[in-house]
Amino acid sequence: MGSMHLGLEEERGGMEKLAAFYAERARGGASLIVTGGVSPNRRGVLGPGGARMQTRRHANEHRAITEAVHRNGGRILMQILHGGRYSYHPFNVAPSAIKAPINRFKPRALSTRGVERTIRDFVRSAELAKEAGYDGVEIMGSEGYLINEFIAASTNKRKDCYGGSFANRMRFPVEVVRSVRERLGSEFVLMYRLSMLDLVSEGSSWEEVVELAQAIESAGADVINTGIGWHEARIPTIATLVPRGGFTYVTKELMGKVSIPLVTTNRLNMPSVCEEALASGCADLVSMARPFLADSDIVNKSRNGQTDEINTCIGCNQACLDQIFKQQVASCLVNPRAAHEGQWPLDNRTTSPKSIAVVGGGPAGLSAATELARRGHRITLFERSAEIGGQFNLAKRVPGKEEFHETIRYFHRQLQLYEVEVRLQATATVDELVGFEEVVLASGVKPRQWQWGPECDSRIMSYIDALQLKEKLKGTVAIIGGGGIGFDVASALVHSHDSDFYEQWGIDKDLEHRGGVKAPRPHASDIALHMFQRSSGKMGAHLGKTTGWIHRLELKKAGVHMHTGVAYTNLDEAGLHYTEGGEDKLLQADHFIVCAGQVAYAPLYDQLLAEGIQAHRIGGALDAKSLDAQRAIKEGLELAYRID
Ligand code: NAP
Ligand code: SF4
Repeated sequence: MGSMHLGLEEERGGMEKLAAFYAERARGGASLIVTGGVSPNRRGVLGPGGARMQTRRHANEHRAITEAVHRNGGRILMQILHGGRYSYHPFNVAPSAIKAPINRFKPRALSTRGVERTIRDFVRSAELAKEAGYDGVEIMGSEGYLINEFIAASTNKRKDCYGGSFANRMRFPVEVVRSVRERLGSEFVLMYRLSMLDLVSEGSSWEEVVELAQAIESAGADVINTGIGWHEARIPTIATLVPRGGFTYVTKELMGKVSIPLVTTNRLNMPSVCEEALASGCADLVSMARPFLADSDIVNKSRNGQTDEINTCIGCNQACLDQIFKQQVASCLVNPRAAHEGQWPLDNRTTSPKSIAVVGGGPAGLSAATELARRGHRITLFERSAEIGGQFNLAKRVPGKEEFHETIRYFHRQLQLYEVEVRLQATATVDELVGFEEVVLASGVKPRQWQWGPECDSRIMSYIDALQLKEKLKGTVAIIGGGGIGFDVASALVHSHDSDFYEQWGIDKDLEHRGGVKAPRPHASDIALHMFQRSSGKMGAHLGKTTGWIHRLELKKAGVHMHTGVAYTNLDEAGLHYTEGGEDKLLQADHFIVCAGQVAYAPLYDQLLAEGIQAHRIGGALDAKSLDAQRAIKEGLELAYRID
């Protein structure tokens, strides 16, 4: 299991929670776990109060983690990560005083003695990790953090022996590895995460990557892990739109150039993808991080031939990385138990099984139905349409969101395993629900109407129809609403099946250019697309921190016109009349797609209460505002734990 910061590292009582989290992954078959990044000193922490391994007290605190993992048959390395110029505080340091584009704090350049002291801090940190019971350490040398900053000429303008030529620029990581090896001996595992593809234009050349890998091996590393892309790179590396296993070709290029094992990473989310990477000689080992949040049992299920039971990581980042950026504890959209194992234990079967109806087979209903059934209740699921999935069925039509197919497959299998009675094309009525002891209303949402509707104008359509008809829509198209669904519809409309991910984002698969980047060749859409919102400010401002920029950039490259701060005046045969920046304007469009948010839909609720039936609302049926799959699934789980 690859390194994944959870936000528990800094929480009071977080070590016990981390221990429970990692122990569950060790039980689930993860043979080797790497912790989230831990800084070797104060200046290297990622933010104020960030995790450090610098004193005996820190080592003692970590014992809870290592003992729990070892008790459950696993092995664990502590990742030593110095944030360098990415450290989000005013005391950050770097090889040179050059501010990172993603940090408002400019770093101070380390003196030569400061560099030497930092190397000693890495060694001390590794020593303390050993004392804490770790089986080894991973030295974080990628993603644009301190070590990477020494290696790249653009961030290292030093005049001493740690700057200048490439041999000098790689001196820092090589000395770190050599010194850790010398002090810790040959039994202590030393993995080095090497930036094989910087994805920034002044990053390392491929020849430099190979030279560094060989030097790192000579300095004493046991294994080299793959790092892809600096955090400031404007190229997606782990989001859903990255093809599965999309960067294994980079590790493959290094195979045979060193004699120690290589690990490949990034968008490996199912056993078949890992098998393919190994069988085609891309690497000796595979590492997954987020898939272990989605399913702690992924390895055991794979080993036992139960891949259809795996809860697949969909690469959304919504509940993991986005939460971390909001300074909240990470979890997982498809598995809200992740990192909250203590709060939602699995040994909670009910002692008084009830007969419960769940109305609605979307994310909230599926989550509630499967969790209630797992706890031992008898569940009947009513779904009005012919298939389960609800809004997942819309999302899976959006390019780059195809992984929702896996979520539906997972729930489908869970319903079978827990013997939920599924009634499709069944609109539940109060009469039918009277016999149940409790009713869960997860009937979802209805699209909010625009002030003009399809009944008055055939050019107007809902986002549901637009996603179904997307290939047929041509000419000029206006999207009313710039929220998550407006962006999804826009992506679906401008997307071309012919467009190549690597060409579109300017990734040099031949590794001929520095950093592995070249000029992007965005796909030009043949639809003239306009997006509108009444509020001012950036469109898509509420999209996830780690993926919103991808969607905005994708639409910008496709030439989508964004209109913010507008007021709609009239819609007539000439088109849409609106004001923007105080000016009256007109847009003639062939289609107006309404993505104006949603309203709650729970028509049965009052009737059930009137009949004295215990009814609960979850997801959109409870509150449509800011509803997304993360909240829906979590509310299903929470309710399943409340009903006894
Ligand atoms: P949303 O994010 O709330 O956006 C609704 C949009 O409709 C806003 O741009 C709003 O802009 C506009 N609007 C609201 N009332 C309107 C009215 N009466 N007439 C015209 N325009 C109106 O809702 P959503 O797009 O339906 O998304 C639902 C939820 O799913 C959200 O929580 C969203 O974050 C989530 N989601 C996220 C993603 C993603 O992160 N990629 C994708 C899909 C969905 P103005 O009021 O300014 O005009
Ligand atoms: Fe994967 Fe999304 Fe879960 Fe993160 S939140 S682990 S990306 S499914």
